[in-house]
Amino acid sequence: SVQNHSETYLDGNAFAAKALAKAGIEYMFGVVGIPVTSFATCALKEGIRFIAFHNEQSAGYAAGAAAYLTGKPGVLLTVSGPGCVHGLAGLSNAMINTWPVILISGSSTQTDTGKGDFQELDQVEAVKPFSKYSGKARNIFEIPLVISKAITFAVHGRPGGTYVDLPTDVLHETISVTEGEKLLSDLQPYVPSWSKVETSVGQQLPNLEIDAAVSLLQEAERPLIVLGKGAAYARAEDPIRQLVQLTGIPFLPTPMGKGIIPDTHQRSAVAARSLALKESDVVLVVGARLNWLLHYGAHPNWSKDVKFILIDISSEEIALRKPAIGLVGDARRLVSQINKKIKDTPFSLGDKHPWVEKLQKKTEDNVKRMAASLNKDVVPFNFLTPMRIIRDAMADLGLPAPILVSEGANTMDVGRSVLQQIEPRTRLDAGTWGTMGVGLGYAIAAAVVSPERLVVAVEGDSGFGFSGLEVETIVRYKLPVIVIVFNNDGIYGGDRRSPEDIEGPLKDFPAPTSFVPCARYDIVMEAFGGKGYFATTPQELQSAVKEAFALRQPALINIRIDPYAGSESGRMQHKN
Ligand code: ADP
Ligand code: MG
Repeated sequence: SVQNHSETYLDGNAFAAKALAKAGIEYMFGVVGIPVTSFATCALKEGIRFIAFHNEQSAGYAAGAAAYLTGKPGVLLTVSGPGCVHGLAGLSNAMINTWPVILISGSSTQTDTGKGDFQELDQVEAVKPFSKYSGKARNIFEIPLVISKAITFAVHGRPGGTYVDLPTDVLHETISVTEGEKLLSDLQPYVPSWSKVETSVGQQLPNLEIDAAVSLLQEAERPLIVLGKGAAYARAEDPIRQLVQLTGIPFLPTPMGKGIIPDTHQRSAVAARSLALKESDVVLVVGARLNWLLHYGAHPNWSKDVKFILIDISSEEIALRKPAIGLVGDARRLVSQINKKIKDTPFSLGDKHPWVEKLQKKTEDNVKRMAASLNKDVVPFNFLTPMRIIRDAMADLGLPAPILVSEGANTMDVGRSVLQQIEPRTRLDAGTWGTMGVGLGYAIAAAVVSPERLVVAVEGDSGFGFSGLEVETIVRYKLPVIVIVFNNDGIYGGDRRSPEDIEGPLKDFPAPTSFVPCARYDIVMEAFGGKGYFATTPQELQSAVKEAFALRQPALINIRIDPYAGSESGRMQHKN
């Protein structure tokens, strides 16, 4: 055919970047190199904010957090072979947490496949256990279709991971701008259901099921509402707050469900969790799985004849748990429907209701017991004293509330009960998979997509170490992220052996749990031009936190924690 030489041509990198922009992608996280280096530059030209990391693992965690916080697909870009394999960390973590993440990797040249090409790997196969869709663009014309499918599968149904494979030869092919535009014409930005105006009555569940759920709740003696991160992802906070307001039913958030209703709300059963689980008779679970985090919904943590009403976007999830009533669909829409029904036949548990009083009493007792140790200044630091100081400083920030990132064994366990969430989607932690090393990726994503909020990453020293060098990324992008390291010399508590226990070959090696004692992570941050603080006393910590929170500039506060404080494996000792 005759080429028109006045036409402009795009290569595969430029065309794929255009396709992402056309599909409404605003952020991309990753590490560049062969063959996708120009992809990132092209994406920036299209107005996509590409955040360049040191390590694909962190970038992948960032893509997951961005997806959760924005409700839109998070994108991770990697090189071929090893880059794609490192990216699997982020893809699998997103899949398990049910967040929509698209991994886009360059791959080796198709005609050299099987000959041992540079960074060759059958990536389309490698990603399959961690993705809902895995597709290769076999030529430049297929790029828009593969990207469109990857987005569709990531966000619809139960959100999850998807994969786009872009071979080197495809990235080097060219397409004319005119033809490219034609191929992109079908791509449209994904609009989450919560940002649409509610119109269609046809979409609603049959009223029978809603009626059955409402009457079960109404007849209950000890009802409970459990709120999970699926409800937060669905932005169901308004109808959920209204439901609690209408009915007075106590609620219990999962760790990342904290803040859908403020932790400070009167009906929060957070501080009476065991009692709430054990004695509730009807439980409405919104966007949370009855997995290990909720003791499988089973005896002895729950009562033998508890009845569950599950709201979940996934019909498989509901079929798996065999609840008394299952409502398949979007949490925001279904809770609104429940509220509508309740307004027709109102009922409410007042402050004097025996169940409410019982939980209230337990809450007061537990809070009082906790306060006794929490309000003491213990030096050398245990976990509680610094956590209280951080809690108070975070509360002083008011609204918009900071986003808390939390990981580590004891650091996360103690943080979960001490630190308070007052707004939805302000807590990011190790999540469903108990993934350690997510902290810096999550913090960077949170700061990028929520520039109005301060980000406070409260990290164990081992959690921090997985991706510690990403502090450079924080400085480079001038992000308002304050990293706080609970430094107790290693995993759980570093080397806690007494000298008599160290015999024979053990003498020659550091304990598997240990790091260099008293490491100066604050100086690592300073190496890149961020601010470092080292705190060993309440006074030092208070002034460090106060200054860092006010400056809103990259900072790391290294807190010296007594290596003998806290327990091994945190609260998971029985599994170690
Ligand atoms: P948590 O860790 O808070 O317990 P999980 O990750 O276990 O939460 O559960 C989240 C659940 O939310 C998943 O089963 C997922 O299918 C569901 N989910 C995701 N999006 C929605 C939505 N829009 N509406 C209802 N449920 C949703
Ligand atoms: Mg530690």
